[in-house]
Amino acid sequence: MLKTTTVVVGAGHCGLAMSRCLAEKSIDHVVLERGEVANSWHTQRWDSLRLLTPNWMTRLPDYAYRGDDPDGYLSASETAQLITDYAKETAAPVQANTTVTSVRSVERGYLVHTDQDTWHARTVVSASGGSAVARVPALQHAIPAGITNLTPTEYRNPSEVPDGGVLVVGASASGIQIAEELHRSGRPVTLAVGEHVRMPRTYRGRDILWWMDATGLLDERYDEIPDLPRASRLPSMQLVGTPERKTLDLNALRGIGVQLVGRLAGIRDGLAQFSGSLANVFTLADLKLGRLLDTIDTWAAKAGLEDLGPPQRFAPTQVPSPARLTLDLRSGEIQTIIWATGLRPDLSWLDVPIFDRKGRVGHDGGVTASPGLYLIGMPFLRRRKSTLIDGAAADAADLTGHLVRYLDAT
Ligand SMILES: Cc1cc2nc3c(=O)[nH]c(=O)nc-3n(C[C@H](O)[C@H](O)[C@H](O)COP(=O)(O)OP(=O)(O)OC[C@H]3O[C@@H](n4cnc5c(N)ncnc54)[C@H](O)[C@@H]3O)c2cc1C
Repeated sequence: MLKTTTVVVGAGHCGLAMSRCLAEKSIDHVVLERGEVANSWHTQRWDSLRLLTPNWMTRLPDYAYRGDDPDGYLSASETAQLITDYAKETAAPVQANTTVTSVRSVERGYLVHTDQDTWHARTVVSASGGSAVARVPALQHAIPAGITNLTPTEYRNPSEVPDGGVLVVGASASGIQIAEELHRSGRPVTLAVGEHVRMPRTYRGRDILWWMDATGLLDERYDEIPDLPRASRLPSMQLVGTPERKTLDLNALRGIGVQLVGRLAGIRDGLAQFSGSLANVFTLADLKLGRLLDTIDTWAAKAGLEDLGPPQRFAPTQVPSPARLTLDLRSGEIQTIIWATGLRPDLSWLDVPIFDRKGRVGHDGGVTASPGLYLIGMPFLRRRKSTLIDGAAADAADLTGHLVRYLDAT
């Protein structure tokens, strides 16, 4: 059996950030990765995907973006390369092509079984990804035969999608981007819209994420916000990273001909039924955007940034009239359904009693109830930006601090 102080599971940017912080504290560790470094960026992203965060936000412990386009948006393959370069530069002790099959609590630590070796470690950090597998609602089982079902982790490009109409379910970052791409490929696209987070790409001449970073909104802490469970379930921002920094909101999609319908509420005898509350959903998203812009404007006034241009307000999201409430999935109108309904972690290898009845891991800012077992990369783990690349440095530093204190005390 192999021994180390800390096993980190997963060599995405979170696992590597953790590795860097552990190395700085001289903690002996190994990073076990089932594929290659940045596996999810190599295997789970569609071809045209670009980061929705500007390049200057691609910051990791002891690393900042060095290219000549700080305001641009890296492609998925460039992101994979950057993470791979980071692993090399930090000499992270990655053991690739090693799948962790189980982690069990034993005396003085954990037994980590992999498809290669078994490790004993005093502490374990799961960095296996907060968005590892698609979360598809149970009503997918009511889809008539003959319709192709895809998730964003399976979708690659329009050429791999059957000709004919597409129903995209979910209007967050993945859903709006894939809906636009499929519409531009000539397919009729229907987009089912539930709760969403509307965002302009730029505001008062700056990237919206510049404002969210500068105002401190992305740094909001898990132990300071009123409703953490709700905040950690919020859908991703409706943003796309393009060279022209375009806004891709529902008005833009409707403008190019994407049909907007309400949330997919049920499927009965092949008939898809959409919620009739589209107008309410739009009003709520517009209201929340207005509040965000108010916060930004107040902050800008205090910071003396009036020269960036006057406050802007955006046209309300237009409700299609009448909004379609049903769609016959047996009629041939829809050939493909894209389930852009969110992603979730896969911690099925974790054989430690820290799951609640819904299968979610209980933790306090990444510190689980099992001493010496940590999580990183989960939604709102310690900060609003915890699932962004830019959130890993602060979270990894905090968790390393806790881990070092735990080792010293035991
Ligand atoms: C479509 C999409 C777009 C995104 N766009 C942005 C963006 O613009 N900007 C931004 O900052 N963030 C973005 N994110 C969020 C986030 O940066 C990524 O999800 C990122 O990949 C998460 O990093 P991670 O290290 O937590 O997990 P991952 O990158 O998923 O890394 C986890 C690693 O663990 C490995 N692993 C899993 N299980 C095991 C096991 N049992 N044994 C061994 N290894 C295992 C996996 O192979 C993987 O390499 C996006 C996410 C998605 C899904």
